[in-house]
Amino acid sequence: MRSIDVHAHLTPQCFWQATEKGGDWHTLKREKDERGQELAVIAGKRQALPPRAKWTPEERLADMDSLGVDVHVVSPYVGFYNYQLDTKVATATARATNDEISSMTRTWPKRFAGLGTLPMQDVKAAITELERCMTQIGLKGVEINDHVNGRTLDEPEFRPFWKAADQLGALVFFHQGGETLVSPRTKRYHLPNTVGNLVDRAVTFATLVSGGVMDECPNLKIVLGHGGGYTCYGIGRMDRGWQVRSEARANIQQPPSTYLRRFYYDCIVYTESALRFLSARIGPTTWRSTGPSPGSSPWRASHSRRKKRSSGGTWSDCSTSEPATQELGITASRPPKRSSRTTRP
Ligand SMILES: [Zn+2]
Repeated sequence: MRSIDVHAHLTPQCFWQATEKGGDWHTLKREKDERGQELAVIAGKRQALPPRAKWTPEERLADMDSLGVDVHVVSPYVGFYNYQLDTKVATATARATNDEISSMTRTWPKRFAGLGTLPMQDVKAAITELERCMTQIGLKGVEINDHVNGRTLDEPEFRPFWKAADQLGALVFFHQGGETLVSPRTKRYHLPNTVGNLVDRAVTFATLVSGGVMDECPNLKIVLGHGGGYTCYGIGRMDRGWQVRSEARANIQQPPSTYLRRFYYDCIVYTESALRFLSARIGPTTWRSTGPSPGSSPWRASHSRRKKRSSGGTWSDCSTSEPATQELGITASRPPKRSSRTTRP
């Protein structure tokens, strides 16, 4: 069975190159703080760039080989969603990023598949770029945030986007970027990330289902990152609400739990018990998760995989199944020979 990682971000080389000597990349700039940490400067706001953000494709491949990962479904760095910027700027950064990912998939078709990014603040522009991704540059879909400047994706203005994704067969990977629902309550203790990511994902599931999007677009292929957040854990209360409150039944004829298997889930949940719970809830025959991912904590993920291997290995439990791979439209195939390289770039 192939190991396919659908949660593998890329900070585009074109950003690094354009900002190498103090220049800007479609208005985005780069600087270092006093400790040498690389920062992206977007509309005057600074954000630390993630670990290994400078990876070249060759360095990525070396890391994949060292971990035994066959395929990365490469997705853009979520700090560059740029929904808060002018549409022209966001479209320019999206196109450049998507072209770079496309180039990787064409150069290494057996090792990389690609997801793009879209200027979601302008639905018309987003659909145009989605169509380009799917029909011209060979991407498998896109990665988007759980909200667009505070608006969830069940809002009526996004319905044309969902119709387009449905018709184009585009995979849509939900991944938070920037502030989450926890951010207004507290910014302490890293909670906007550690708790907020999971809250946002559950809200995404609930709004798409309860808003009727999944019924209107029966062919949607949606991946909920980070194991779907709190979705599976909280599904019982969603069902209870559907039973007792008419507003929860406004758009759907079946309880929310009947939609769980309409979605795909990655396996970045960090504990074996959570992974087993997720697997049990979604169902063993439709386990649709992915191999381990560098994600935002590559060293920890790498360690986990090695630990599993050395203790007898259960990671086959969370490799993408071949039927799921076909459903997702990931056609990159196993490389002819896996490298035995174990050193890291
Ligand atoms: Zn991620």
